[in-house]
Amino acid sequence: MKRILVVEDEDAIRGFVVVNLQRSGYTVVDAASGEQALEAYEAADGDFDVVLMDITLPGIDGFEVCRRLRAKSATLGLIFLTARTQEMDKVGGLMMGADDYVTKPFSPSELVARVDAVYRRVQLAAVSSRTAVIESGPFVLNTRSRTLHKNGRPIDLTQVEYQIVELLMQHHGAAMERTKILSEVWGTAVFTDAKIVDVNIRRLRVKIEDEPSSPQYIQTIWGYGYKWCP
Ligand code: CA
Repeated sequence: MKRILVVEDEDAIRGFVVVNLQRSGYTVVDAASGEQALEAYEAADGDFDVVLMDITLPGIDGFEVCRRLRAKSATLGLIFLTARTQEMDKVGGLMMGADDYVTKPFSPSELVARVDAVYRRVQLAAVSSRTAVIESGPFVLNTRSRTLHKNGRPIDLTQVEYQIVELLMQHHGAAMERTKILSEVWGTAVFTDAKIVDVNIRRLRVKIEDEPSSPQYIQTIWGYGYKWCP
């Protein structure tokens, strides 16, 4: 769902903006002041993709609302609605907080095109921050779904096994000390014998190695720990 917050104190403009965005498939929440905007944002638990923000508002102005929202979310799309040339100059200096601005008066198609562009950017940023994929040899590890595939086939891992693989793959080529693996996977507070690492590595090798008896991917560093070798 494409969710947008529209902040505009002039009823006619707010109505025009809301109607046109709804026609383009956006779910719109509107606010007539900076205070209302902040309340609406909190009420929705920040669940907006884009905020369209008038600058000249009674009370807290659009710049200040933008600054506060930006502090809450780095990924939120922010577009200013500007009325005057002086505001434009000010916007130029504040573009670091906003993604774009639209100058009044604007046509529905211009408005929707600008909002769509920012929305797409927000979506792309969200997808790339969610999906962290590590590829190594025949393996693909997905840290979001917490899955490991070998040659395109899923490998059934326990949570602990998954965490060990993720840790080793993130440090591929580097020797990881057994006690380091223990503290990273089981937590430093847990008093556990480092042998549990060896037990899990043995099980992992059965699942992921071509020849578990002569492991190729998880190599043993004698007297120290293990290393992921792509
Ligand atoms: Ca205004």
